[in-house]
Amino acid sequence: MNGEGVKRKGLFSGGKNRDGIDSETKSEEKYQRKKKFDRKLVKYDALPDYLKDNEFILDYYRSEWPIKDTIISVFSWHNETLNVWTHLGGFLIFAALTMMSFMEIIQGQGFLSGFSRSISAVFMTANNSGELLPDLKSRQVSHGLVLHVDDEGNIINALPLWPWFVFLVGTMAGLVGSSLSHLLACHSRSLNLFFRQLDYAGISVMIVSSFYTPIYYIFYCNPSTRLLYLSSISILGILAIITLLTPALSTPYFRPFRATLFLIMGFSGVIPAGHALALHWSEPYIFVALAYDLAMAASYAIGVAFYVSRIPERWKPGKFDITGNSHQIFHVLVVAGALAHYAASMVILDFRKGSPTCER
Ligand SMILES: [Zn+2]
Repeated sequence: MNGEGVKRKGLFSGGKNRDGIDSETKSEEKYQRKKKFDRKLVKYDALPDYLKDNEFILDYYRSEWPIKDTIISVFSWHNETLNVWTHLGGFLIFAALTMMSFMEIIQGQGFLSGFSRSISAVFMTANNSGELLPDLKSRQVSHGLVLHVDDEGNIINALPLWPWFVFLVGTMAGLVGSSLSHLLACHSRSLNLFFRQLDYAGISVMIVSSFYTPIYYIFYCNPSTRLLYLSSISILGILAIITLLTPALSTPYFRPFRATLFLIMGFSGVIPAGHALALHWSEPYIFVALAYDLAMAASYAIGVAFYVSRIPERWKPGKFDITGNSHQIFHVLVVAGALAHYAASMVILDFRKGSPTCER
């Protein structure tokens, strides 16, 4: 994109210089606009109020484009292009990981378990514990369950895999929802509100679903604790979504409020994490998982700091309109955090797959 478009006359200010704007001229203009829509990008000042979100991003806005052009703009440069693609990219990574998990269910032992076991092994060897994950030969993956069989081939335990897929699907839903919001919210006032809310609901779903794998498998042998934690975070998520459906809370003014709400949800994980640590203190896997989740927490927290502070664009307004602004950094850190949590969940799931019973 070059600077040519800067003096773009603004798609929706076309009639200003004409004499006497009457209704006939207006409808003529409307007709012309429809007939030959020119995909012009506009400056911040030319935006309708509801599209004004970040005053430090000065240019390259799509404003009230027809829906078809808005969709096509996924392949062109404007100030939302990287916001769309960072989360679309994250979605595609998680879609590939989900496919691999399905392949593992169909084919038995697969790439993912091998990967997880090797990273766990590196950590645990470094830990000098010498205690690796139990041998997985005693298990088969079938119909969404991990079956543990004894020497005679009798099934001694069937471990459900649905919490693992809740995490994968929830993460994909959050990422694709965010991507769609950034692509389509510029179309109209009503769509803008709808997609902002979808985006916030998506983030909430992503946070809640990320609790399912660790809580379900770590507290597998403590069903009531498991139920307590899973229902608490689910209720917290539902309350957050209901709160965020209030249109007033979608405005830029409430940006810190929304960030705080997401942080509270995310960091409420400290309670089950502390409990898990106390419960599995002697098992090396818990420290490996914790290390990954600390990386996730750091990634999210730094991301939220960028989101709220709007650094670096506040230092040089207009310099980061297309690339390098706070929201894009936030998006990349969200994907990085989700991948770190994926690794943590993998270690936990693999541990549980290798623990046939709850006997100690
Ligand atoms: Zn976003």
